[in-house]
Amino acid sequence: MGGAEPASASDRDPADRLPGWVSLLRAPNPGPMTLDGTNTWILRAPGAEHAFVIDPGPLDEGHLRRIAEHGPFRSILITHGHHDHVEGAARLAELLGGVPILGAPFDPSTIPGENGLEIHVLNTPGHTGDSVCFLVECEGERVMFTGDTILGRGTTVVAAPDGNLSDYLASLALLKTYGQVVMLPGHGPARSDTAALAEEYLTHRRERLAQVRAAMAAGARTPEAVVDVVYPDIDPRVRFAAQWSAAAQIDHLLRESAAGADGLDRL
Ligand SMILES: [Zn+2]
Repeated sequence: MGGAEPASASDRDPADRLPGWVSLLRAPNPGPMTLDGTNTWILRAPGAEHAFVIDPGPLDEGHLRRIAEHGPFRSILITHGHHDHVEGAARLAELLGGVPILGAPFDPSTIPGENGLEIHVLNTPGHTGDSVCFLVECEGERVMFTGDTILGRGTTVVAAPDGNLSDYLASLALLKTYGQVVMLPGHGPARSDTAALAEEYLTHRRERLAQVRAAMAAGARTPEAVVDVVYPDIDPRVRFAAQWSAAAQIDHLLRESAAGADGLDRL
């Protein structure tokens, strides 16, 4: 599950070229929370026998069988536990004859592939407590798989209590340090610059937090009341997700407040 808030990140810089060792199979589950559908990514170094798959997606037999045609696979990698990413994992493992499913916590944090392909796991909690990103290197090129931590379009939801905005801001700050790396998200198009998008998301979060802080100072005391003020035109289909986001923002501001970082009254 990914996008919920009205779009703010621009959609102007789709990556025009993916490395030859990456391919995309998009699951047939489009919707307000999944954009065009879940992106299932397949990694195979040139000449390698075994591939990796990132996020099998929903339990859709046709989609899973299409993935299986790209085997054999070394393992099934999971960016986080939301059902639209992981629901099909057990069935895919079965179709593949028992390939391991790997999700957080990853130990060790580097997964060697064949023919020079290398997968580095970054712990990036926030969207969920178990969210990771995969920085994958092969043939001198690097790409970042971000799951729902950064989407190809719009913004993502940080849903309290599993999601945590303080963690999320730290994860965006971490992604910013990786520079201009092609970003391959869990939903939406590939983008050319992970760090620039991380910065855009940080700016968006700071603006939202300022709005929520103002709404709370004006008397809003519940996620429902904050959504009424901060997201007045919210699509009713995703209002529940905006309320989760509002709850995460309220939690974050209360933690800041308890730490004496601003003048907000304890509720
Ligand atoms: Zn998700």
